Amino acid sequence: MSTAHLTGRRALVTGGSRGIGAGIVRRLSADGAAVAFTYSASAANAEELVAELTADGAVVVAIRADAADPAESADAVDQAVAALGGLDIVVNNAAVAHIAPFDEFPPEEFDRLVAINIGGMYWTTRSAIKHLGEGARIINIGSINADRIPGPGLSVYGMTKGAVAAFTRGLARDLGPRGITVNNVQPGPIDTDANPNRGDFAESLKQVTAQGRYGHTSDVAALVSFVAGPESGYITGAHLNVDGGFTV
Ligand code: NDP
Repeated sequence: MSTAHLTGRRALVTGGSRGIGAGIVRRLSADGAAVAFTYSASAANAEELVAELTADGAVVVAIRADAADPAESADAVDQAVAALGGLDIVVNNAAVAHIAPFDEFPPEEFDRLVAINIGGMYWTTRSAIKHLGEGARIINIGSINADRIPGPGLSVYGMTKGAVAAFTRGLARDLGPRGITVNNVQPGPIDTDANPNRGDFAESLKQVTAQGRYGHTSDVAALVSFVAGPESGYITGAHLNVDGGFTV
């Protein structure tokens, strides 16, 4: 695959200021795409990422938009289209986690997870669809927790990621006739602020993988880059694990 296989493509990544989203922004940009990304709180990280990539001549734009707010998600799509001159690739990455027993789960946390992890994906996709043409790509970042929950406290987060998987299936059917692919990339344990590679929780997750270790944001970004590219046209409605063997 050419290292510039996304040249001429225009991508929107939600939640691109940190972690896996920032890794995806870096990779798509390195592969030639013009990239817009959203963030909600980490303005300094977003500015640093834009400065880093634009210094190399890339087209990268940061947009502040809360994924929990349908109007802000729609506005972010409009801003991305205006800045990039169109849209070919949407990566629904922004999400949050909260671990707690299901019967003690704080109602405001429940609402936050549903609004960001499910609502953000839905409203971004719904707003973007009128801009997407034949050959476009929608890539949802789900979680291996849609398939396997290795311990207690993850039922609500897992429920939101199960919704990502189901939405991906339905949308792949809806958009197949238009030549738009829709896929669900499911990471296993990846070292980020949300899931740092240290401490008892991290050690317990490592034991669940076949490889006994965490992955890197670049591992997820490499798969996203392939799915975003021209050689993945017959892959749609798929659940693609990048998890070190978490479900083996
Ligand atoms: P991080 O918490 O490290 O980063 C989350 C990113 O999403 C940040 O850029 C953050 O920006 C953004 N974000 C959070 N809330 C909002 C919001 N309301 N509106 C807009 N942006 C928002 O998470 P990860 O990188 O670890 O996770 C990224 C994706 O990968 C998620 O979908 C997650 O569920 C999934 N995943 C991660 C795994 C892991 O082990 N790390 C495993 C399986 C799945 P800001 O700080 O500006 O709010």
